[in-house]
Amino acid sequence: MYSWKCYFRVCLVCSEFSPPVDIFCNSCWLNYYELTQSKRNSRSENYKFPLHRLWVWNELSDQYVRPVVYNLKKGHDHELFVKLAQMFLSKVSFSQYKDENLIFIPAPAKYPKLNHALYFARGLSEVTGRPYFDVLKESLQKKVSQKNLTRIRRQNRKMFLKLSLKRGNRTRFIFVDDVVTSGSTAEAAYRALGQPKKFDVWVLAEKTLKKVALD
Ligand SMILES: [Zn+2]
Repeated sequence: MYSWKCYFRVCLVCSEFSPPVDIFCNSCWLNYYELTQSKRNSRSENYKFPLHRLWVWNELSDQYVRPVVYNLKKGHDHELFVKLAQMFLSKVSFSQYKDENLIFIPAPAKYPKLNHALYFARGLSEVTGRPYFDVLKESLQKKVSQKNLTRIRRQNRKMFLKLSLKRGNRTRFIFVDDVVTSGSTAEAAYRALGQPKKFDVWVLAEKTLKKVALD
């Protein structure tokens, strides 16, 4: 299916380069199973929307999840995001959506050429055969680093749709992002989409760690 080149990369956790690396190197896979194969399922109850995440980013998993999130920000590799999508979908029971028209909506790009939400949405689309539409745009006038935004401004962030989207009763929008912290980005996306009845959030990591602001 994929060429050997998809194993020719550095480990997302320890940055070790000793191919074949399948997302993580062998020793990091062991840590991965220890940290993530608990009885916890993918559903988080901390938000007003149904939210599924692959990892919980807390004090215990910080050492592991932080380098993965930072390494993903460095660049993209389509096969890698397909693998992450497969890993994600192995935790979510997809049959619950079989009668619905799912549309994946990636979070708007935080940096012009590095939109990992878009890459993740594309990976999910490839694995599920459902479409993705990159239609959200942030309506902040000035480009300000998110770290410099005050909490209040972050909560008031606004998005709009670049294109209108056709929807029916069976349409479910799945907002896709890499990390969720406060849920304010998802909230802005929900409003931009016209507060649809069916709206879920799928992220790689739910950050419950409070020490460092990163969303
Ligand atoms: Zn490693």
